[in-house]
Amino acid sequence: MSVMLRLAHRAILRRRRPPSSAVTVYAVRMDWADRTHQFVDRRSSPELALLAAARLRAYWRRSPVRPTLSVAALSEHEFALHRRRRDCRSPDCAVAASVESRSVVA
Ligand SMILES: [Zn+2]
Repeated sequence: MSVMLRLAHRAILRRRRPPSSAVTVYAVRMDWADRTHQFVDRRSSPELALLAAARLRAYWRRSPVRPTLSVAALSEHEFALHRRRRDCRSPDCAVAASVESRSVVA
């Protein structure tokens, strides 16, 4: 690795910081029929998260199983922790202020 590359790499590493619990992010919460949920599409504002939810709703529209989509505010740290959790059913997780779309079981 050249000196210039090594310096650039070091600068990138310095900029990376761990997810903060003080930073609020907005994510789409997907609630499934089996009562599990997941958070996807982390965004910096609720408006951007609503757009992401609209895209997801369009994606799932023709599926026989559709998740209930909502936008939830949570900390950057919570979002990072939740990504590693599978089949989460915890009632303590962030819930939505408003529901974007309800699931429909065909
Ligand atoms: Zn959860």
